[in-house]
Amino acid sequence: MASAGGRAGVAIVRLSGPGALATLGALAPGLSVKPRFAHRVRFADPADGTVLDDGLALLFPAPASFTGEDVVELHVHGGPAVLERLFTALAGLGLRAAGPGEFSRRAFANGKIDLTAAEGLADLIAADSEAQRVQALAQVGGVWGAVITDWQARLLDVLALLEASIDFVDEDDIPDSVTESVAERLAALADEMAAHLADERRGEIIRDGLRVAIVGPPNVGKSTLLNALAGREAAIVSDIPGTTRDIVEVRLDLDGYVVVLADTAGQRASDDPIEQEGVRRARARAETSDLRIFVSDHRTRVGLETDELTQPGDVLFLNKADLGVPGQPDLPPSKSITLMGSALTGAGLSELLTVLTDRVRETASQTAVLVTRQRHRENLSYSHASTQRASQPGHPPDLAAEDVRLALRALARIVGRFDVEEVLDLIFSSFCIGK
Ligand code: GDP
Repeated sequence: MASAGGRAGVAIVRLSGPGALATLGALAPGLSVKPRFAHRVRFADPADGTVLDDGLALLFPAPASFTGEDVVELHVHGGPAVLERLFTALAGLGLRAAGPGEFSRRAFANGKIDLTAAEGLADLIAADSEAQRVQALAQVGGVWGAVITDWQARLLDVLALLEASIDFVDEDDIPDSVTESVAERLAALADEMAAHLADERRGEIIRDGLRVAIVGPPNVGKSTLLNALAGREAAIVSDIPGTTRDIVEVRLDLDGYVVVLADTAGQRASDDPIEQEGVRRARARAETSDLRIFVSDHRTRVGLETDELTQPGDVLFLNKADLGVPGQPDLPPSKSITLMGSALTGAGLSELLTVLTDRVRETASQTAVLVTRQRHRENLSYSHASTQRASQPGHPPDLAAEDVRLALRALARIVGRFDVEEVLDLIFSSFCIGK
């Protein structure tokens, strides 16, 4: 079923495969189907003639359909009993329910979409925020795929030149200018790949959210702050130090961007092995986060002098501003951004949210956001390293050719497609070898 489960006005059931048209014929005998045309149909179960529903049917013939196969859409009323009865009729005709992602998988297998577009589709369906939607839609539209295809084509050109210089090495047919041009082209490619890798995870931040860790000593109000920012009771708040032992996460939508806020265990020495583990996890989380909010008590500034978790650009939130006066006002703030407030009364929270919103916006706002997944990053890093190696002056052409092949293969893993024929065609057609 293409639409979500549950009760609805209309449900869309999609059939894909060579038997789709015959199935429609069985459910609606006598219907003469016109491609991509909505037909009003009274569906009936051919097994016993039961009328199933009054709805619409559309045919998208292969190959111009989403999966590349014949696809039939049945629009019926979205009641559970209607669907149940329709599924019984379809099972009677030998059809089965599609597995998760099976339609996209077939679209990929039939060359309708590449892997990045398939991932974009999954992201689009999962998108919660506006920025996620925009990025996923661009990926479905093939922006990432197009960049990779361009790199592949250029690497293939270079590979053809390299192969030729290996084949004709004794004949002195390959002038030095070719070798130079190869090195230059590879260096340019490596630079472009490096630029995409040096994107500070922008694509991943939009997709997965900016990871923010709330850190600091116990009992300064970290859990209260998380709850106040989340607007609900996500973390346990108590005045017994060491209550947050695992990591509590909430997702915030700030101006269309996702921020994943994590409350971590208070940093202190403890004999309790469970608390020690909590402290260890908190450290690990702080290290892998994009931003840390160090919370302390403005009166004591506890923990600041021993803080090893924060990095330049992080935020210091001096909490409990509603209580007393600062005890050690001259202790220099070690963080770039210092805010004073109260998680309990809400003072200073809007400033903190502004800092977070600005940070995620500035991190994600650059154009050409492409690397949306770790999988892309790993393969692109590999491709970049191979291309860079191949571009080194004096690198023997046979080794350079091998490196270019490795670079191509890594790119192919991103889009999920690589045609050996393509290489052969290129080498044998566009290069003047027939002499
Ligand atoms: P954590 O251990 O750092 O997570 O601290 P908690 O969030 O559990 O808070 C510890 C205690 O401080 C609780 O009793 C909170 O109600 C209290 N608390 C937290 N923030 C504030 C604040 O801004 N003002 C006041 N007066 N109390 C606070």
